[in-house]
Amino acid sequence: MSRVLVTGGAGYIGSHTLRALQGRDYTPFCLDNLSTGYREFAGDTAFLAGDLARQSDIDEAFRNRDISAVIHFASHALVEESCRNPHKYYSDNISNALRLLEGMLRYGVTRIVFSSSCATYGMPARVPIDESFPLDPVNPYGTTKMVIERMLRDYENAHGLRWIALRYFNAAGAAHDAGIGEWHNPETHLIPRLLNIACGMGGCAEIYGEDYPTPDGTCIRDYIHVMDLALAHVAALEHLFAGRPSDVFNLGTGQGASVRQVLDRAREVTGRRIPAAVMPRRPGDPPELVANPEKARVVLGWEAQHSSLEEIVETAWRWRRGGLCQALAARSGASRG
Ligand code: UDP
Repeated sequence: MSRVLVTGGAGYIGSHTLRALQGRDYTPFCLDNLSTGYREFAGDTAFLAGDLARQSDIDEAFRNRDISAVIHFASHALVEESCRNPHKYYSDNISNALRLLEGMLRYGVTRIVFSSSCATYGMPARVPIDESFPLDPVNPYGTTKMVIERMLRDYENAHGLRWIALRYFNAAGAAHDAGIGEWHNPETHLIPRLLNIACGMGGCAEIYGEDYPTPDGTCIRDYIHVMDLALAHVAALEHLFAGRPSDVFNLGTGQGASVRQVLDRAREVTGRRIPAAVMPRRPGDPPELVANPEKARVVLGWEAQHSSLEEIVETAWRWRRGGLCQALAARSGASRG
């Protein structure tokens, strides 16, 4: 069994990855400061409440644990917030990653899987997007992901670090047993926002723009089930443990869905009324982001298995009405279901 340090393992994608690791030849160890994650999400994984801002916490995570790889999720991840408060993103996301890399060097850990994003591509000229597209992020969040990818390259050149950067498209859905899922406060993402309304939280779904150059005028995204993302991290670790080269991969399905298509599917799956209104465009939204996931298929042997819009919305809806999500909603004063 290889021990893997998972930073941010109490977050949305991190917690699903803990589960994927546990079912295989890895023993995860979770380091999370619980700023946006939930202790319950890490389940029975060994857990340290610690912060990458403190070298002493990083040392504690590595010391005497025989860690052989790191998966790094922990970071601020709100695009809009990053535009309002770039300092928070540049200072925390980048310096924490740097401290983590230095910690890896001190403890002789040479493998890392990094949670990157399609936000590194900015406003691509066309779709589908493959890994050779130029990186040109249009917000500080995407810029931090790009910079950290560059740092990984530099640490490889200087210190022999081996890394995989996974550029996620739109993570969505929840574990099939509804034990963990997506819960952000505030919630900015389309699918959980629609399901909050379906749950009776009130309000009206907001469609950010209906005048995009797409068939129905709304933005198109490539939604990828969080369990598929989790499995890609396992494939990335296997790649590194097999001694194969550092690399970067897009994680998506290759199929786009428009905001209107997602809304229709949410109405269908929930059987609830979800009133919607068209709002102005949200600044910084590209009309269409769809991955070309071919490289991950060929090199990692990874392919989305659970990412039909139906399965995504169904699992997210089951989670939204399940016990833990209801408890989290109650804590935040949003409990109807
Ligand atoms: N969106 C929307 N209404 C919402 C939230 C999102 O129309 O309440 C749109 C958003 O403009 C984008 C898509 O849904 O085109 C997905 O947005 P989300 O915030 O879920 O993910 P992003 O693509 O920004 O990472």
